[in-house]
Amino acid sequence: MTNYKEELFKLEKRHIDNFKNGNIKEQDNIQNKINILHINNIQDLNTYIMKSINTIRDLCVDVNLSKKLLSDIMTDIKKTDFENISNVIDENIIVKSKGFVSLLLNVDLSKVKFYDLKVNKNNIYAEACCINCGEDEHHIFYYSEEFTSTDLIVHELGHAAEFSISRKVKDDQFTSHSCISEAVAYFCQFKYLLENGSRQQRSGAVAAFIYTYLAILVLSYCLKNKLELSDIIPEKLIDESMFKDFLEIYGDNGRSFIVEKINHIKNTNAELINLVGSEISPRFGVVLALILLKKDISIILKIISMNSITENLDSILNIIDNDITGSLKNIDKLILSFIDG
Ligand SMILES: [Zn+2]
Repeated sequence: MTNYKEELFKLEKRHIDNFKNGNIKEQDNIQNKINILHINNIQDLNTYIMKSINTIRDLCVDVNLSKKLLSDIMTDIKKTDFENISNVIDENIIVKSKGFVSLLLNVDLSKVKFYDLKVNKNNIYAEACCINCGEDEHHIFYYSEEFTSTDLIVHELGHAAEFSISRKVKDDQFTSHSCISEAVAYFCQFKYLLENGSRQQRSGAVAAFIYTYLAILVLSYCLKNKLELSDIIPEKLIDESMFKDFLEIYGDNGRSFIVEKINHIKNTNAELINLVGSEISPRFGVVLALILLKKDISIILKIISMNSITENLDSILNIIDNDITGSLKNIDKLILSFIDG
């Protein structure tokens, strides 16, 4: 075992213990140590990360959702009773979900462990999370007293599967392009929902992308006008023609709601690069997963084996789709056919 791998696996074990204990300060400390370990072992890591972010920045501005699609999703969401799209996670669901992802990606998930943390004290911007640990002992944390659903668990198992497969394929593959990792997890989740979910559950699963789309519009506006996030005034920005559809769909309270969302984008991201890296790039996995739904499983396994930050993202995207810009123009169709099932 290389020193890098040995050190990393040790830190991952400590990270998981801190998660179980709810020791948030120590969690940040260990995460920092893990980041430094990667920096020390991968030459020019930050350059690779910037390259990955810039690829998504240039690509995502081609995403264009029609007013009709936005309106259809919003109508579905308004009709949704959260009782209908959530469910309790028990041992049965865990076994069933593990079986689903194991079969889908041909991977052994028997050592993956589940922990119910009851409440999301970690304030993670997610309803569950998967933390990698060693070769295949990854841990999935969920919060039973908050929103839980089987497809959410399947999504996290998709992450666990990706970790296990890529760690088996390459001995030193510990960093990834977030959009590709998320694409694999969303792929598993969407496959599950196509086989087992309702229209409302599928609408709910893609609804989060609407917020990302708003972030993409803000990004496009800033790039076009050579502005940084700190330069924009949400109350004024909202009157630009590109936000017209959003305003009309959200109705009476739309204006204040969208201004609040844009303010959130501005306040949580120091610069555009952070917005792309932390919000847009991972959620771009939704778009990639929708494209992957029509592809052979061998393509998924191929992109997992290639998903290292040192690999050119364009080459991986090209395996997913050799005309990704063309597919982005048809994103409406992809989303609709997924929701319709
Ligand atoms: Zn995820």
